Amino acid sequence: MKWGLIGASTIAAERMIEAFRSVSGEGAVTHVLSSSPERAESYAAEHGIAHGGSDLEALLAGDIDAVYISTTNEKHFSQAMAAIAAGKHVLCEKPLAMTVADAVTMVRAAQKAGLVFATNHHLRNAGSHLAIREAVRAGRVGDVLSVRVFHAVYLPPHLQGWRLDKPEAGGGVIADIVVHDADTVRFHLGEDPVDVVAMASSAGMGKGVEDSAMSVWSMPSGAMVQTHESFTHRFARSGFQVHGTKGSIVATDVMTQGAVGEIVLTTEAGAETLPYDTHDLYRRSVGLFCDAVAGQGRPSADGVDGVKSLAVAAAVAKAAETGRRVAVDYGGI
Ligand code: NDP
Repeated sequence: MKWGLIGASTIAAERMIEAFRSVSGEGAVTHVLSSSPERAESYAAEHGIAHGGSDLEALLAGDIDAVYISTTNEKHFSQAMAAIAAGKHVLCEKPLAMTVADAVTMVRAAQKAGLVFATNHHLRNAGSHLAIREAVRAGRVGDVLSVRVFHAVYLPPHLQGWRLDKPEAGGGVIADIVVHDADTVRFHLGEDPVDVVAMASSAGMGKGVEDSAMSVWSMPSGAMVQTHESFTHRFARSGFQVHGTKGSIVATDVMTQGAVGEIVLTTEAGAETLPYDTHDLYRRSVGLFCDAVAGQGRPSADGVDGVKSLAVAAAVAKAAETGRRVAVDYGGI
């Protein structure tokens, strides 16, 4: 597999380039695109990528099988559509697009072209979340009554840019983190949120966008979901909890990029720490994507998963704005 990077981003530098190389070898990343030719060149040189440029058509005409899109969110739609038109498989960052309708268009275009399209929701690739899911599926908590998601973190200084002051680029904590929480809840419960209530606020980090949100979602099974997302919490620990009729799973520090955290299952028999695999989350995402391109299996989170996580985030944003209970509109997908 040969990859073109659309976006000279931090996430590619910190996680994805290494993941592509560990799955497909040192020559896996051949091109990188930036809006600035100088930045493309310096990024390419810094990361040992042969071609750096600012012409999307030239990148798509290159010897690549797939693109990884990690530009700011408002660019994902047009870049994905161009890549699909050029016959490239697409691994796209979340949120897939600025609107559910655009995300549906991207996913349908890839389906029609027979291309693999995936969303880079890393959390469902974590050994911790795979272990939680297995325990829930095995009935160890019984019927699920509720889920609580604690995803209030501190946005690191080097990422304190467009997420905090550019609503037109898809900034704000709802677009950034609620999508991950929606995907993770869907992954564990195997069902899609029906409707939501929410509030959002800015404690000063967010300028023109919210930096914190809390929401409650109803699920078809009757389970309730409570979530908290923030950029401003320096000392809070993240967590994911599933409470059921026979047991509770309390996982701490698991809403993150590393293979870390602790999972405790408590039932009538007592408390038990669940073991989990500590593989790299992003490598697993890329590995499953490459397998899918080779005709084996499916990506860990496909395009439909990306549409659905965006739809939940859009409903949370609307509920926070209007103060009303909002039905999640999945755009007919
Ligand atoms: P960055 O701000 O690092 O990158 C986004 C764009 O900003 C880049 O494409 C680049 O534009 C520009 N940029 C980056 N650094 C500089 C710089 N030093 N000077 C000038 N321009 C710069 O964003 P992230 O990497 O944090 O996020 C990118 C995407 O990935 C988003 O969609 C985000 O939601 C997603 N993401 C996903 C994560 C996950 O775990 N799934 C984690 C983090 C982010 P250009 O390409 O034009 O040079």
